Amino acid sequence: MIRYLIIGAVLYLVGVLVRRVLKQLRQPAESQQTEKSASEATARCAHCGMFVPRNEAVRGDGREFCSREHQQLGTRRDGA
Ligand SMILES: [Zn+2]
Repeated sequence: MIRYLIIGAVLYLVGVLVRRVLKQLRQPAESQQTEKSASEATARCAHCGMFVPRNEAVRGDGREFCSREHQQLGTRRDGA
């Protein structure tokens, strides 16, 4: 009788542990994926600092800008 209780308790503990491990494995993977895709999807304008979709960003001088005007104005220099 007590053997069945022990087997049942062990099966229950294994089930809880497996569920917890699966949950931990799934959650960080999802959050990393969303952070990565968000940072890949947006570019920061080197002139005004505005975030724009990367596929709409204007590239020039090794930097990314929100518009062609800001690309021509270039990187803003503080104090100039
Ligand atoms: Zn800009």
